Amino acid sequence: MSKFQNIGPKWAVKSHWLILGMSLYFGFVLNAAFWRYIATHIEINSFSVFVFALSLPFFIAFPTYLLFNLLSAPYTTKPVLIFFTMLSSITNYLMFNLGVYIDTDMVRNVFETNTREAFDLVTFSGFLWVLLTGIIPSVLIALIKIEYKSWGKEILQRLLCVFAVLLVVGGFLAVSYKEYASFGRNNRDVRKIINTVNYTYSTVRHFQRQVSANREFKQLDENALLVPFEDPHITVLVLILGETARAKNFSVYGYERRTNPLLEKQDIVSFHDVASCGTATLVSVPCMFSHMTRTDFDATDVKYTENLLDILQTAGYKILWRENDDGCKGVCDRVTTENMVKTNNPKFCNGKYCLDEALLDGLPEMIANIKQDTVIVLHTMGSHGPTYYNRYPDPFKKFTPTCDTADIQNCSQEQVINTYDNMILYTDYIVSSAIDMLKARPEYESGLIYISDHGESLGENNMYLHGFPYQIAPKEQKHVPMVLWMSEAMKRWDYVDYACMKKEAADKTYTHDNLFHSIIGLLEIKTHIYHREYDIFKNCRTKELPAASVFPTSG
Ligand SMILES: [Zn+2]
Repeated sequence: MSKFQNIGPKWAVKSHWLILGMSLYFGFVLNAAFWRYIATHIEINSFSVFVFALSLPFFIAFPTYLLFNLLSAPYTTKPVLIFFTMLSSITNYLMFNLGVYIDTDMVRNVFETNTREAFDLVTFSGFLWVLLTGIIPSVLIALIKIEYKSWGKEILQRLLCVFAVLLVVGGFLAVSYKEYASFGRNNRDVRKIINTVNYTYSTVRHFQRQVSANREFKQLDENALLVPFEDPHITVLVLILGETARAKNFSVYGYERRTNPLLEKQDIVSFHDVASCGTATLVSVPCMFSHMTRTDFDATDVKYTENLLDILQTAGYKILWRENDDGCKGVCDRVTTENMVKTNNPKFCNGKYCLDEALLDGLPEMIANIKQDTVIVLHTMGSHGPTYYNRYPDPFKKFTPTCDTADIQNCSQEQVINTYDNMILYTDYIVSSAIDMLKARPEYESGLIYISDHGESLGENNMYLHGFPYQIAPKEQKHVPMVLWMSEAMKRWDYVDYACMKKEAADKTYTHDNLFHSIIGLLEIKTHIYHREYDIFKNCRTKELPAASVFPTSG
């Protein structure tokens, strides 16, 4: 222990008690905005919600506890604690009194704001607030004497403390997992009002963005070229991107309930065993359109690399992305897009979201006016939970009783599944209607692919929703439906043996990795990025792709 540390000690406190005490101080006092939010957003109506509420203080204080344990050592403890106390005192005031949420944009603002704007925020009540919760505690920290053990003992003790708290938090999480998942889902922005998580996370993200902003955007193949079979037809492909639809509840795959009465009547190829790339939209959607496979997929790289749509566009296809979900996750950034919620078609929209039928509105006219090879992507809202009951109109409420609340953990599993199945019934109608629209235009070489981004847990083993780490996620979250329909013209002029496709689709296993290369093959594009081994049509072509014969391909 240095002599310097012993100068003028007033009170002595052991380091681990100080860290614990300060974490609790942060957890309760410096998180006033969070606790007010909780008081107005949680109703304790069951024992599990009670346990959830009981566990929240641990959950809120833990990240700060971890942070302080990591950064506190002789000479650093005081500056670290004072810095975070002052910062959190100010953010606590802003969040509580001005309703500020602290996210990456906010942090960027702070770094780019001039001082005059900042001083506008200084008021007497603000000063008083910061004096009481920030300055006075900081002065006390500066005055106390902190006692440390030897390095070895100190580190060992901290590890034990963190481990013990981790056990408590983990235990609570295991018991109240459903409540946490549901609460997180319905209150996505709440992390932005949790001190110190909000600004620590956002500052790290801000600098990450700054670093990556200078990255170069990578073109996949500027020479991608349409090399069609000799035929006079315009090609039209409709790609329907499903949301949270799981194969298990599709009757075309043998689900006992008739959830696909319309698709069962269509002449479709249904792929029985398709695995998603991720268990959440944010991973799956960019991955599906990327040339990267699931195992080498990188969420940052993908933002700086062209995707399937870019290749199609380069090759001369016209692309239209109709969006009705929570955004295209960067996939549609360089193609024409139409946002259904913004269009706000009064027949299907309520200003906040739209039924998926909005995606079909005007589509027949659009298809009728097609003058060049075109790909239309319909990004459905599908079965986006937990408010499944909001995703379909009344005529599709066939399976009852339903779960007409976002708090699905309060419904029986039967109700949740009924509601979900009604959704699939509605998806069946959407996909089948789109097929009918293409059928009405036999002059095109047209096709349709429906594929979901990931699945969903509906209470199996007490799991709900999706987004589990891929390796441990249950099959329900990864086994997705994929359906193909081809017009007579497309079958003939793309030399695809449809019976062969049906057989392959029933027997073989596929993944999202197949999508990129299969569509490039189907749309007759010559590019070095194409890999034949991923092409789902490869074994069922009665004639080699012209691209392959005109230019020898590497794949
Ligand atoms: Zn999704």
